[in-house]
Amino acid sequence: SNDYRVAVFGSAGVGKSSLVQRFIKGTFKEAYTPTVEDTYRQVITNDKQVCTLQITDTTGSHQFPAMMRLSMSKGHAFILVYSVTSRSSLVELNTIVNEIKEIKGPDIAKIPMMLVANKCDEAAREVGKETGAAIANKWGCGFIETSAKENVNVTELFAQLLQMDKERNMAL
Ligand code: GDP
Ligand code: MG
Repeated sequence: SNDYRVAVFGSAGVGKSSLVQRFIKGTFKEAYTPTVEDTYRQVITNDKQVCTLQITDTTGSHQFPAMMRLSMSKGHAFILVYSVTSRSSLVELNTIVNEIKEIKGPDIAKIPMMLVANKCDEAAREVGKETGAAIANKWGCGFIETSAKENVNVTELFAQLLQMDKERNMAL
């Protein structure tokens, strides 16, 4: 098919759903609604042809390991989200990255991955930009700081992710 599948991972409460909602609908909600798993679609171009960007907003918890592994094996690209207000949310991504690497095997080098430091609007920081950037480098990911709340770098996140795929020529 002509779908390009992106899966969004990260601990509960870091803003995965908020980033996807902001990107797809341009909206933001203060209230927290736990997600099971939802998929959203957006039309993009691939070599100037119409293509469907399919974004899976996963549950942050590890209650559904089979669902998580399925999203990993089906995914063409990955968004790994932590909150700058929570060091543990960054640490918890370690397990996710290792699972993705294990599932993708040697293909991993070509797979676009963005490490996302969300809630950059918050003053109560636990993780600095340099720390996030250094870890992204270690994991072989791109890095961006975002705010779903204030609409900072949300479109840029998706644009950069698509640009990382050198086997395709995609654009928003
Ligand atoms: P998820 O569990 O990762 O899907 O997280 P949600 O998107 O449901 O967001 C969890 C909470 O964080 C909600 O109360 C959101 O309003 C809030 N939130 C999400 N993104 C941001 C952000 O960029 N800045 C701030 N300050 N709060 C955010
Ligand atoms: Mg959610």
